[in-house]
Amino acid sequence: METYESLRDHFDWSNARSRLAGFDDKALNIAYEAIDRHVADGHGERVAIRWLPKAGEAVDLTYADMTAQTNRFANVLDGFGSTGVATLMGRIPSLYVTALGTLKAGAVYTPLFAAFGPDPIKMRMGLGRIDTMVTTAQFYRRKVKSIRADLPDLRHILIAGPGADEIDDPIVSDLDSLLAAASDDFDAVRTEPEHRALLHFTSGTTGKPKGAIHVHNAVIGHAATGRMVLDMQPGDVYWCTADPGWVTGTSYGIISPLVNGVTSIVDEAEFDAERWYRTLETQRVNILYTAPTALRMLQKIGAELADGFDFSSLRVVGSVGEPLDPESVEWAQDVFKVPILDNWWQTETGAITISNYVGEVVKPGSMGRPLPGITATLLETDVDGELVLDADGQPVEVTEVDAVGELSLRAGWPSMFRGYLDQQERYEACFVGPWYHSGDLARRDADGYFWFVGRNNDVIKSAGHLIGPFEVESALTEHPAVVEAGVIGKPDPTAGNIVKAFVVLKPGFEPGDELRRQLIAHSRKKLGPAVAPREIDFAENLPHTRSGKIMRRLLKARELGTEEGDLSTLEVPA
Ligand code: ATP
Ligand code: MG
Repeated sequence: METYESLRDHFDWSNARSRLAGFDDKALNIAYEAIDRHVADGHGERVAIRWLPKAGEAVDLTYADMTAQTNRFANVLDGFGSTGVATLMGRIPSLYVTALGTLKAGAVYTPLFAAFGPDPIKMRMGLGRIDTMVTTAQFYRRKVKSIRADLPDLRHILIAGPGADEIDDPIVSDLDSLLAAASDDFDAVRTEPEHRALLHFTSGTTGKPKGAIHVHNAVIGHAATGRMVLDMQPGDVYWCTADPGWVTGTSYGIISPLVNGVTSIVDEAEFDAERWYRTLETQRVNILYTAPTALRMLQKIGAELADGFDFSSLRVVGSVGEPLDPESVEWAQDVFKVPILDNWWQTETGAITISNYVGEVVKPGSMGRPLPGITATLLETDVDGELVLDADGQPVEVTEVDAVGELSLRAGWPSMFRGYLDQQERYEACFVGPWYHSGDLARRDADGYFWFVGRNNDVIKSAGHLIGPFEVESALTEHPAVVEAGVIGKPDPTAGNIVKAFVVLKPGFEPGDELRRQLIAHSRKKLGPAVAPREIDFAENLPHTRSGKIMRRLLKARELGTEEGDLSTLEVPA
């Protein structure tokens, strides 16, 4: 296998582009690359999606099936003159047909997380000016009906599965009947590479979710990272556990695997540790792409549950979305006996940009090195977290090994977002000189590995020190009693802030002063007294975003008793 260095030295995006089919006129369509292309190459009978319903037998959709279905869907959309489509449904085949059929027709696709309640749906639908929604009868009743009148752009609601005929609403129709009546012949629209393809809302961890716009050219990044990071090879069985309601579930749950010709597992059921282990075994999964929260949940339940399962098909496990603490890396490596590859990217970057790689040294706790084709740096920030500019107004790169700076990428990679919906100024403010600056702080070690420190606004300034919450959280999770920790700065008259931790214990451990003392002593030994938490609270659970990230701003708001003011973006469960 090629080494990281050699790949990095000769990688260039135009080669990556030339591995795609494209069209003679330089046009590029994500859906064509994801499905039709494989059929044209004679692989129509390969399974594209293996759907595991909550109960019952697996259902296979081949690449040829997907071509026919998405052609029908694209014809339906053409008939509507639709420009923007959203899905609101669980992990069922119609979602995948809708997503790719929409892209094929040249319209913009927006996934909505199925657990959203009416308000978050209304906000996103309205901002996106979405004219067509595909959902189920149950979701329509529970979440859409009450906001219908507030969505003037919405012209069509298509109901997947049964129940459309029982809904009395002139814009509702039955998806399956429309598909059945439509032709299965359609030529993917020859979209310009810069044609809008996807509108993804960010997770809302730091504030109101932003709408990030992506274009068809992004498929170059989805294809290349699937190969270079997740090691996808045609015919592999691949499972991305991220919900398709978020960017990971689209970039790596739909586009990347299909573009790379693998069989993608889609599990309708919610997280269940035993089901996961069984699925890895019985489906002979080669590649698992998941998130730290999932690995932590498995860990919380205990490694014994994994005993007796056969994971010998697995080659690689990837993780994204939050920092992956070294403890979890080691735990998962023990259970799965494969490399656990943490990687970093954002809704804005569209695809993986910093990563660990198969065959390369993994340093547990590090998110790895820049993807070949990506230039990453750290930019100097001042005490308020603002970028430091030199006399020419240019940002200053951090050169010192292990020093902290804002993680930034040289702008211009294919899957980079092309705008924030309705927020041009905010978009422009993400770029300085040649760099896109990410809002996250990191360190770079002597080998060029990046270590996540924290989000710019989560970093704690305590008695003249700059403390990254992740470092403190990692030290705490190394303690055998702790499964998860969230760390914040609590305002303090003398120190400015003190480090305060909220910890969730593993089953069998009792909260109390004795354990609190032990945890503080353990952290002091690991981190030194200036960085170790001064206060520890025990919690049953930590607040997470709907996509599973710890919401430190919420811990902080609770601590300060400022909840109401700060909770505007918290998603209300359905
Ligand atoms: P918002 O931008 O609305 O506040 P968000 O930043 O959580 O929400 P996403 O784009 O889903 O929305 O998440 C990207 C962020 O997730 C990154 O900026 C980073 O803070 C965090 N993240 C992702 N992967 C990693 C990782 N491997 N290690 C550490 N942090 C990660
Ligand atoms: Mg963000």
